[in-house]
Amino acid sequence: MKAHDGMYIGGAWRPAAGQDVIEVVNPVDEQVIGTVPAGTAADVDNAVRAARAALPEWAATPPAERAARLAALRDVLTARADEIAETVTAELGSPLKFSQAVHAGVPIAVAGSYAELAATYAFEEKTGNSVVHEEPVGVVAAITPWNYPLHQIVAKVAPALAAGCTVVVKPAEDTPLVARLFAGAVHEAGLPAGVFNLVTGLGPVAGQALAEHPGVDLVSFTGSTAVGRQIAAIAAGQIKKVALELGGKSANVILPSADLAKAVNVGVANVMSNSGQTCSAWTRMLVHRDQYDEAVELAAAAAAKYGDRIGPVVSAKQQDRVRGYIEKGVAEGARLVAGGPEAPREQGYFVSPTVFADVTEDMTIAQEEIFGPVLSILRYEDEEDALRIANGTVYGLAGAVWAGDEAEAVAFARRMETGQVDINGGRFNPLAPFGGYKQSGVGRELGVHGLAEYLQTKSLQF
Ligand code: NAD
Repeated sequence: MKAHDGMYIGGAWRPAAGQDVIEVVNPVDEQVIGTVPAGTAADVDNAVRAARAALPEWAATPPAERAARLAALRDVLTARADEIAETVTAELGSPLKFSQAVHAGVPIAVAGSYAELAATYAFEEKTGNSVVHEEPVGVVAAITPWNYPLHQIVAKVAPALAAGCTVVVKPAEDTPLVARLFAGAVHEAGLPAGVFNLVTGLGPVAGQALAEHPGVDLVSFTGSTAVGRQIAAIAAGQIKKVALELGGKSANVILPSADLAKAVNVGVANVMSNSGQTCSAWTRMLVHRDQYDEAVELAAAAAAKYGDRIGPVVSAKQQDRVRGYIEKGVAEGARLVAGGPEAPREQGYFVSPTVFADVTEDMTIAQEEIFGPVLSILRYEDEEDALRIANGTVYGLAGAVWAGDEAEAVAFARRMETGQVDINGGRFNPLAPFGGYKQSGVGRELGVHGLAEYLQTKSLQF
């Protein structure tokens, strides 16, 4: 059997229960590049049973041994980095260099971080006359999106395995090929059968069956707010644990003392990266009224340079959605200074790098997650006004603050209702907790906080 014919369940590729398949399309040329089985509730049930069967032994495996398996997994991923990058480029459309640096590089770093954490984390501590043991939550369902397809799998699977949990992954239907590659890497790394399982399929079929399965103890979901809400409702009905990483509308706050050109250029790059398909992207740029016109000019010039350098968005559906938002921005009175709703190429799901000026807080493009290469620039009167605008959405995932003085930026960042803030262009840190305030989600991923999501505590009194 070819790998693409089956599901990875219980340590082997097994035939899918049904006949239906999902076609995977290259968003650059719209050609079908492969198919994967469309899993059903029966496949999900098999996978969850395999994960449950493997749980007692994996949970009892010493953390040092779990760490060794994760280190082996990191090494296999490193050896296959080129294949990972090429696969993500083929199914997501991102430029190869970006795929190498980010879509392959970041998950390798994250897998490595959990190999180290599993080896060094104190799974046991004393408090008074008690010993507190941190034990695995159990069987984890990981439902992941397509925008950082391998990273989002590894950011759930690596901490779950480090904690001693077993996992069933249901990857996004647009990007299942890198998920299959990952299953092969898990196999090669020698993880025991059933510790990791993969079921490809449609969200409302395989995804929903997985979230609903009574054999699942925790659902970790990344994706849209609408689906996150449904999953939280399912989990509530069963008092199941749930972690949600949802959308964002993050603010890039440029205080008057900042290096304006740098802040604007880095801000535009942040939004255009991955064709704007980043939940933590700084899609609202907030500029003081005295510097507003200059910032708009700089941003328009910066965006124009991205013309041919960004890839397409993932699908025709996303292209329609993003172009719809651009049209809405125009209709609501925002001023286009770069890009626009017209597709820049006839073939492929491309969207022009787009910048809107004169965006006001009440506009749809200032409130809703667009998930495309679209930046909204808003004007503020003073610092209090900037803070009010920055905090004025239902989201709170990320953000940025720029100021001449670092302490000034930090003081502002501390007042922002958001889970992460980059100070004067601070770099991504794979050990820093990532997750949302407000409707951006529940729980944290990455680093030690990400590990804690997959642990529950038991106190023994002496
Ligand atoms: P989605 O939420 O529909 O899909 C995410 C995952 O959930 C996929 O694996 C999908 O198969 C699964 N899913 C869908 N319906 C389900 C259900 N009823 N039960 C269980 N699982 C289900 O996201 P999408 O349609 O691919 O993208 C739509 C929008 O979501 C985007 O435009 C963007 O705004 C947002 N999004 C956010 C992120 C993020 O990182 N926060 C990632 C992807 C998409």
